[in-house]
Amino acid sequence: MYIELVKHPDVFLRSVSKDVPFPLDDKTERLTKYMARAMYQHHGIGLAAIQVGYQLRMFVMDCTRAQESPQVFINPVIVKNSEETLTDFEGCLSAPGKRGEVKRYLRIVLKYQDKEGAEHQKTFYDLEARCIQHEMDHLEGRLCIDYEKGEYSRDKHKSQTMVESDFRVKHNT
Ligand SMILES: [Zn+2]
Repeated sequence: MYIELVKHPDVFLRSVSKDVPFPLDDKTERLTKYMARAMYQHHGIGLAAIQVGYQLRMFVMDCTRAQESPQVFINPVIVKNSEETLTDFEGCLSAPGKRGEVKRYLRIVLKYQDKEGAEHQKTFYDLEARCIQHEMDHLEGRLCIDYEKGEYSRDKHKSQTMVESDFRVKHNT
């Protein structure tokens, strides 16, 4: 089954996602698996719920080569970050063919919940830290292509063409 992603410049990607209530209902539980499938199908290392049509504060990530151990992060919050940053180019599954030059912290401490609702606090480095910061932007309606020379640009965000959402959630029953 081919999973369609919400794509830029769809205005839906600009919405701010909401907290996920616990205990997870069956639908949200299924959604985490669906997100992982979508991530692998599109050869990404991370994917936020908004990219498959749900305004929920959760994302999946797998930066391993094997691509068989997706991690699920629910209601994530960055509680600490390094002084050191790195500016590099990033792409997004929701903006194919485009890229942004984005400054990210090299190291972050993330607080999040797993599917059972248990709280975790963990330090992430380098590629994982970058990927998490990219996904956290999705939860706020931001995209990596909004950045200019490393910095987030409100003007660029605004100037990106906004079109009415034509995304249909096909599995939203
Ligand atoms: Zn993205």
